[in-house]
Amino acid sequence: MTNKQTKFIFITGGVVSSLGKGLASAALASILQGRGFKVRLRKLDPYLNIDPGTMSPYQHGEVFVTDDGTEADLDLGHYERFSGVAATKYDSTTSGKIYQSVINKERRGEYLGATIQVVPHVTNEIKNFILSNLSDEDFVLCEIGGTVGDIEGQPYLEAIRQIAYDLGRERVMFIHLTLLPYIPTAGELKTKPTQHSVKKLQEYGIQPDMLLCRSQMPIEDSEKKKLALFCNIKKENVITALDVSNIYEVPLAYAKEGIDRAVCNHFGIECNEHHSDLSKWQKIVDIVKNPQGSVRVAVVGKYTQLLEAYKSLHEAIKHGAISCRLKADIAWIDSELLEKDEPERYLKDVQGIIVPGGFGKRGTQGKINAITYAREHNIPFLGICFGMQMAVIETMRNVAGIQDADTTEFNPVCTPVVGLMREWDKGGQKEFRKQGDDLGGTMRLGAYPCVLKESSKVSKIYGAHEISERHRHRYEVNINYEDVLKKNGMVISGKSPDGQLPEIVERTDHPWFIGVQFHPELKSKPFAPHPLFVDLIKTAAKIK
Ligand code: GLN
Repeated sequence: MTNKQTKFIFITGGVVSSLGKGLASAALASILQGRGFKVRLRKLDPYLNIDPGTMSPYQHGEVFVTDDGTEADLDLGHYERFSGVAATKYDSTTSGKIYQSVINKERRGEYLGATIQVVPHVTNEIKNFILSNLSDEDFVLCEIGGTVGDIEGQPYLEAIRQIAYDLGRERVMFIHLTLLPYIPTAGELKTKPTQHSVKKLQEYGIQPDMLLCRSQMPIEDSEKKKLALFCNIKKENVITALDVSNIYEVPLAYAKEGIDRAVCNHFGIECNEHHSDLSKWQKIVDIVKNPQGSVRVAVVGKYTQLLEAYKSLHEAIKHGAISCRLKADIAWIDSELLEKDEPERYLKDVQGIIVPGGFGKRGTQGKINAITYAREHNIPFLGICFGMQMAVIETMRNVAGIQDADTTEFNPVCTPVVGLMREWDKGGQKEFRKQGDDLGGTMRLGAYPCVLKESSKVSKIYGAHEISERHRHRYEVNINYEDVLKKNGMVISGKSPDGQLPEIVERTDHPWFIGVQFHPELKSKPFAPHPLFVDLIKTAAKIK
């Protein structure tokens, strides 16, 4: 099971949802790394879906994909970007997964005739998830999704209460993230909702050790004292989580409030031995606050009403800009607008165009119109996954003149330039799919190797011959059209090692026109910006 020294920090949320528990957890992990500790982050989502893979982006935002092919909550993206630690299938679960595992065990007779109950069977499964598949981490930070008081969340609270009982309070810390609303008519921050939320946690047998209080203004000492007294918490463990202008400031802001000292004190760890080094965050914040200019990039997609749907993409563009000491000025454009109006109207001022991943027909013609505009006006263009598939269709229709070129995803009768993937190689084994299979968890998911064509643009950008990138798709560009595409200015410059799956295309008659079947945005980090985004921004901003 777990290493004797590993300590567990559980992060719950109270008062309202969307307070940014994922970001708070990721920031705390990064601060602890700054003191030399080894960390691991995990997310437990109480909803009943097996994973967010089949949920609409409007419900749940982006689906993050790990190297090992888990479709996970977007908070795992924050975890990876802030800590640099690659998440695995052992770092994300849901009630759906927990129940599925319990029911499978019941069917196999593993419970030896017992009546299966939420306590202990479901709670034991949750405890197992939290305590297993660890190595020598100093801290494991587990975020419990949802808000305290949700019916779905109760087994999780019971499970973490039991872990504190089993391991001892010296190895467990409970952090509760809440909101102190400011009431203008009273002119004050209100502590009552937090008090109620803590009472609710106490009902479940959990005494929080720290309150992380989201607030739009500094919290007076008297208010901290009041919260400490009523919530049974040391005053120095009432931490202000002040609203900040950019997310990269969060680690610096929390550290300034003494969050790492409070965590060390809780666990009886000498804090001064472990010097704090957050200089890398300071550098990023300095650039974000004092950019040397800006670069205007358009993202032409379908879910532009909810930016959470493009979380990693948004971050990756920012990382590319930061690496050039620029501010990314992003125009989020609903692709349907480019069907009703001239693309010129929306795209005439942009320096780069990105068509991101997507599913389904709505808005596709608008994406194709954006791609035509980028191609004809020599504007740097990056097509990601669905965006790459659309770029290939655009070349087939508008350059090769094959008008019915399309994807079988929503057009079964066409020249199938993009079609359903029926088989592919996964780590030496064949995966098979057919029309009508289940939708959940059946795409080509996770990291796959890709071989780059020598002297192609991408091989220069990556400075490598073989790369590994994360995928999430069911359809693929049909390799049989390689020659037609080549004759029409588009080369396949990246392929799966068996040469069967086109992974990257680029136009040879354009300064920067690249389509990738994978999602480069998932691997970009503020400290390790993805080369495609760095090069796109450099070219867009005309930096030599
Ligand atoms: N809908 C396309 C497919 O399944 C593209 C998916 C995506 O953009 N992630 O292949």
